[in-house]
Amino acid sequence: MNNEKVLKGNSFMKKILKTCVIIMILINCTSFISLGVTYKNPKVIKVTSITNWKPFSYLDSKGNPKGILIDFWKAWGKVNNIKVEFVKATSWAKSLELIKNGEADIHLGLFYNDNRSKYMDFGSPFLDLMTVIYIQEDIDAFNINDIKDLGIGVTEENYARYYLEENYPDIKLLIYKDVKDVMNDVKNGKVKAVCIDYYNNFRNISFYYTELKDFKLLQTIYTQPLRVAVKKGEKELLNFINNGIKKMSVSEIEGAKSKWEYINIYLTKDKVQKYILIAFIVIILFLLMNILFLKNRIALGVKRLAESEESYKKLVTLCPDGIFVHQKGKVVFANDAAIKILGEKNDTNIINKNFLEFIQGDSKKTIQNVIYMLEKFKITTPTFEEKIVKSNGEIIDIEMTMNVIHYKEKTAILTIIRDISQRKEREEEKQKILREKLKYEQLKTEFFANISHEIRTPLNILLGTIQLINKVSENDDIYTQYQYYNKYSHIMTQNCYRLLKLINNLIDITKIDAGFFRMNFKKYNIVQVVEDITMSVVEYVKSKNINIIFDTDIEEKVILCDADKIERVILNLLSNSIKFTKSGGSIFVNIYDKNDVICISVRDTGIGIPKEEQKTIFERFRQVHPLLNREREGSGIGLSLVKSIVESHGGNIYLNSEYGKGSEFIIEIPSNLNPEDKSVLVGEISSNEDKIEKINIEFSDIYS
Ligand code: ADP
Repeated sequence: MNNEKVLKGNSFMKKILKTCVIIMILINCTSFISLGVTYKNPKVIKVTSITNWKPFSYLDSKGNPKGILIDFWKAWGKVNNIKVEFVKATSWAKSLELIKNGEADIHLGLFYNDNRSKYMDFGSPFLDLMTVIYIQEDIDAFNINDIKDLGIGVTEENYARYYLEENYPDIKLLIYKDVKDVMNDVKNGKVKAVCIDYYNNFRNISFYYTELKDFKLLQTIYTQPLRVAVKKGEKELLNFINNGIKKMSVSEIEGAKSKWEYINIYLTKDKVQKYILIAFIVIILFLLMNILFLKNRIALGVKRLAESEESYKKLVTLCPDGIFVHQKGKVVFANDAAIKILGEKNDTNIINKNFLEFIQGDSKKTIQNVIYMLEKFKITTPTFEEKIVKSNGEIIDIEMTMNVIHYKEKTAILTIIRDISQRKEREEEKQKILREKLKYEQLKTEFFANISHEIRTPLNILLGTIQLINKVSENDDIYTQYQYYNKYSHIMTQNCYRLLKLINNLIDITKIDAGFFRMNFKKYNIVQVVEDITMSVVEYVKSKNINIIFDTDIEEKVILCDADKIERVILNLLSNSIKFTKSGGSIFVNIYDKNDVICISVRDTGIGIPKEEQKTIFERFRQVHPLLNREREGSGIGLSLVKSIVESHGGNIYLNSEYGKGSEFIIEIPSNLNPEDKSVLVGEISSNEDKIEKINIEFSDIYS
């Protein structure tokens, strides 16, 4: 048992021992493999390059190595984490020496197909070196042929020198020992064109040669690859360097080109870039100008908008028509004219009121419908006439137009109104004048027909009577002849009177119109004048079975008047009353004293005068009864003459009448005369014969 345990314990130990041996063998094998395969990374690399090869490798004023190759190699060291030391060499030969002696690890430079390859191994190309021709910027040249005679500065070691000599034998070359000498003559203006090595994708040439800051690239002559070289046989080092270059980014190293190649560039990249830049600037300027122009246009537009808004405001304010804007029925704007038309002082009683409140009652519904149609169909109404209610309740005529507009971003109704009340009044006035003219024309026609009738009737009667008288034979005795004459003389006299009355009246109205109707004012007892003339008619009316009743509340009233004319007035009124009063009727002549005035009333129980005729009865030629339907004779002049005579006395005449019942004419004559006034003559009342003559004339158109 114990042995078994010991055995078991021994085998466990053996297992551990076995595992340890295997791990150790594995570790040893790994270190063996790695030692045999891996190249030991160097910590420091010494780089040599000639020191006067600007811009690739040169020494600055303080003696520090500078240039494109130096920059490149510094970048390589950084990427690969290796310290790079530069060993200065003044020429290619010196550089080769340093490599051969192991004083430097790497040589940087061009691949030359010469004996250097016996001593060095070259890596892959990593930069393209370009040999280019630069000329002064202001020289107008397009390619190398354009500067044949100008002379091109070039160093004696520059490979392009041989290339140019071979390919362009006509071109003048200015050969210099050193690039410094070239630049010196560039500085003092002797050299205006140079042929120089340059790495195009690195920095601008003037970074390395400040003397060339005003030079432009004319033409690229050729490119050649730059590569590293190591001591012959140092393959691992070369691989290591090449791998390190591959790790560098594109911006740090350009893809190398294996062969030299000739490139003719007429339009260089610089020129293209310059043109792009100019085009870009032009576009930017154009855009800027556009923006400025647009800005100006917008500013101008805004200004014009503000100006036109101001003009519209003025237009609306100064517009003589009333302008309302109402939204959803409520007035939101009213101009000065609208306020004035409504008779308000300002818009406080208008704004926010329902627009329909200003429309006359009957039309509210119509306007409401119009607004509904406007909002629905977005139309404009034609101008129509309406009536609006002013603030004082007065209703005036207006013209109205309605339209749909946008006011403060909402739909609104624009209503324009014009006060046409005065125009309407004028129209009404015109219509009235027209009506009156027509009436007057009609009246004139009636008058002429009337006058003709008035003349013809008595003339016919006279003619008929004369014919009858002529029938009396000369053989008839004197008594028979007298009887004939006696029978017809009265008719002839009456008709002569009638013609006389007509002529008298026509003359009188002509005199009145011409202002020659003279009044003969004297002191008269007006009561006696009226009573005497009335009583002289009594006998005449008896035959017509009409009563004349005279009454007076005073016996005497002396006034200033023309008794002759007053008699004509009374006779005319009595003649009318007799004409239009049937047999059995009565005529009342009354005198009332009203202190200031004497009232004379002539009233009858005749046919009366219709109401509508009463206003015009005193107008000239006016007759109530139609001409062609005449029942009674007359010219229609009498009452107008009566009115003129009464008014010449400073008095008035009135009519009270009820159609079918009778008429009353009232004359008022002022009685403000002092009876004691001796300067006024006392008039004489006409004789009975005179009165009879007057009656004959005035009553001549009354036929029994
Ligand atoms: P005329 O010379 O024809 O009588 P007037 O001017 O005196 O003219 O009267 C005008 C008209 O007025 C008459 O034709 C008659 O129609 C009406 N008129 C005047 N007086 C009376 C009256 N008393 N009653 C009824 N009609 C009258």
